[in-house]
Amino acid sequence: MSFDPTSLSNFMLFLAAWGGAFIAALWLSLVIWTYRDIRQRARDPLARILAVLVVAVLFLPGILIYLILRPSRTLEEDYQHSLEEEALLQSIEESLQCPGCSRRIRETWIVCPNCHTKLKKNCHHCNKLMELPWNLCPYCGSPAPGMRRENLTLDEALRQFAPEPESEKEASPSEAA
Ligand SMILES: [Zn+2]
Ligand SMILES: [Zn+2]
Repeated sequence: MSFDPTSLSNFMLFLAAWGGAFIAALWLSLVIWTYRDIRQRARDPLARILAVLVVAVLFLPGILIYLILRPSRTLEEDYQHSLEEEALLQSIEESLQCPGCSRRIRETWIVCPNCHTKLKKNCHHCNKLMELPWNLCPYCGSPAPGMRRENLTLDEALRQFAPEPESEKEASPSEAA
């Protein structure tokens, strides 16, 4: 087996050409990948150009620098995140806002301390909190005052009769006149 220097140099040339082509293809694909990646992460055109330039000029160390410095979230992820935050904020505001003055209130308050709007009512039987439109206590099953006459307490019954003397007083001057 004879040693042929020409075939060796041909082989080295082929290897160099193949390696050069591979490195050129790698460089091009990294530049394209960076361009696609930065397009999903930044709207600023200057940031996009800089990212592609860093990878194009520095090649492999450039891709390392790009991976360290690129925005951690894509624009799509950023958008989803802001949507989630908005929905969360909205649900907090809706559930804990006074209908009268829009200030923040607590779940257990029966009256707004700021504008005195009635927020909840107590069950007259078990004293648990009820929503204002409810006619029946969900805890003990007793109807709200005014729903059934036989369930009225003495205090509430007296309150119902209380306005009558006032109306008589108002009526009496008109009768005299
Ligand atoms: Zn209020
Ligand atoms: Zn009750």
